[in-house]
Amino acid sequence: MDRPSPLDFDVLVVGTGLAGLAAALHLAPTHRVALVTKGGIEAGASGRAQGGIAAVLAPQDSFDSHVEDTLVAGAGLSDREATRFVVEHAPAGIAWLQSLGVPFSQADGELRLTREGGHAQRRIVHAADATGAAVQRTLVEQVRRTPGITLLERHALVDLLTSGSPGERTRRCLGLHAWDEAQDRVLALRAPHTILATGGAGAVYQHTSNPAGATGDGIAAAWRAGCRVANMEFI
Ligand SMILES: Cc1cc2nc3c(=O)[nH]c(=O)nc-3n(C[C@H](O)[C@H](O)[C@H](O)COP(=O)(O)OP(=O)(O)OC[C@H]3O[C@@H](n4cnc5c(N)ncnc54)[C@H](O)[C@@H]3O)c2cc1C
Repeated sequence: MDRPSPLDFDVLVVGTGLAGLAAALHLAPTHRVALVTKGGIEAGASGRAQGGIAAVLAPQDSFDSHVEDTLVAGAGLSDREATRFVVEHAPAGIAWLQSLGVPFSQADGELRLTREGGHAQRRIVHAADATGAAVQRTLVEQVRRTPGITLLERHALVDLLTSGSPGERTRRCLGLHAWDEAQDRVLALRAPHTILATGGAGAVYQHTSNPAGATGDGIAAAWRAGCRVANMEFI
């Protein structure tokens, strides 16, 4: 039987913010995962997030209240079903982060919940005022000690590899081309599944709190490969 090439994987995950790190950690027990990122593993918006993460955890709080607050804050433009899905899964997400060792702030042995603008209840889980840094650091430590994950730092997604022609319904994503900055060469990484977790595009604006790398590369690559792109006005 042919041995798989070192550039063949089950899943390619592009981006090492919270989305990419979480996807890689969930898949690693059952899949050979390549985690591809254009800078160092710490780059991205996730490590900069400060305030905290909203989740219904207080006994007097409810999913309905969190959904309604989110729809009001979203000026009625948020998708109700997607909002409910995120809200209902948030407590499990917090529990998962705690199980990995994220040092969320506590009081009397319980998570310390604060209240932020737009929220009717105290539901913000935080790690002092550097929540994103604490989450990013913990997940990076987990990724580094997970054997099923091949980490490729300073490998920038250039474009997706696809079968067929633009517009064909049977067109498939077969992997991607990545620029290996250290070797100054382009690699073809192959996998039946590719997850783009490349963050936003805030850096296209002159003034932004986003990192310089938030240039929308993944969104552009997806669009070139034939994906539908929506909601670009929300940064
Ligand atoms: C200053 C600030 C404060 C914030 N505060 C909060 C808060 O209090 N609470 C909250 O919930 N949210 C907050 N947010 C928003 C939150 O940080 C983001 O929604 C979240 O981190 C996005 O995670 P992500 O994994 O999708 O993207 P990111 O963390 O941005 O990760 C994107 C990854 O993709 C990589 N990448 C990009 N292009 C390529 C390419 N071509 N090839 C390879 N890799 C690529 C990047 O290097 C990075 O690793 C804040 C954001 C900022 C900027």
